[in-house]
Amino acid sequence: MADAIEIDGSMMEGGGQTIRTALALSALARKPVKITKARASRPKPGLKPQHLAAAETLAEICSAGLRGAKPNSTELEFSPNEIKPANLNVRIGTAGSISLLLQQVLPVSLLQEIKLRIVGGTNVAWAPPVEFLQAALFPVLRKSGARLDLKVRKRGFFPKGQGVVHFSSKPAKLPLKPISLTELGGLESIEIVSSSASLPKDVSRNQAVAARHALQHLNLDFIEKIESSEHLATIGSAISVFARFSKGAVLSGSALGMKGKPAEQVGKEAAQALLAELEAKQPCDSHLADQLIPFMALAKGKSEIRATKLTQHCLTNIAVTEKFLPVKFSVRGSLGEPAEISVEGHAFSP
Ligand code: ATP
Repeated sequence: MADAIEIDGSMMEGGGQTIRTALALSALARKPVKITKARASRPKPGLKPQHLAAAETLAEICSAGLRGAKPNSTELEFSPNEIKPANLNVRIGTAGSISLLLQQVLPVSLLQEIKLRIVGGTNVAWAPPVEFLQAALFPVLRKSGARLDLKVRKRGFFPKGQGVVHFSSKPAKLPLKPISLTELGGLESIEIVSSSASLPKDVSRNQAVAARHALQHLNLDFIEKIESSEHLATIGSAISVFARFSKGAVLSGSALGMKGKPAEQVGKEAAQALLAELEAKQPCDSHLADQLIPFMALAKGKSEIRATKLTQHCLTNIAVTEKFLPVKFSVRGSLGEPAEISVEGHAFSP
């Protein structure tokens, strides 16, 4: 492919996110991309079903040429065309993460009306729970000008998945306004989202009670959403806890149920993850930080976030983003510590 941007998929963190960010920004910048050594450092290298489903969905939305996209392949070429409105049914297969598929299409959904019905995992390991998109990511993107909506119709857990989510977007007000998460403000409330499928009703309730107990000392109002669905094609449980601050910051913690793991322990784990985020006294959640990077680069003006923890995912996403857009991020802080990340955005508009 002449003039393609080359991305070494094994650089830095080297996971699926490198592929997703590269393809998404390739589509927006209308620059072809060639990815080599995709997920090369992972125990099972190459494209897994969820990476393939994400790449194929994006290719459909922007009529892209997609070469080399097959199971376990480590090389991939993507040549984007015009981004068009879409109404698609996407089956990721098994419990591949619905949120990570959305991570792939969010940047292009700034431009068009996109409707997706996605079947896969709603709460799976190493990926954002779908409620994280609803409570933490989408509010920040909406404030910046994005028009996004997400409805969870059915939960889907490992290994069967079968969760169902409806996503829709309308063209955003472009260029996006800069993203600013620099002030923490006062802690106002805690939201608990506890869910289970095909398990006794007690499970999601006990998870929530344990989380509340572990966070009781904060002396705050709790808003609880407790779901338990029977007869779903999936079995499992999950819990997310969100701390909401007066200036809009949302920090999170989450945990997943597992056979043999008591519900009380699952709830406590999520609360402990949130307490670790709270300890840093910064307004941008550590997972949210890496997910905001491409949007900070696309916005007009200076975006700035203070993250609870600088992660390798964040640094990798910065490196990939800088390959596609003429921006230069500034990072103050060390890996594993709170950090200040800023960039003068490219003011992207088609
Ligand atoms: P690989 O299998 O190669 O690791 P992947 O496609 O599963 O790749 P990653 O590249 O590891 O995914 O990216 C994971 C994404 O999920 C990151 O954006 C990270 O911030 C997000 N994430 C992981 N755990 C959570 C969580 N508990 N809450 C919110 N976001 C999360």
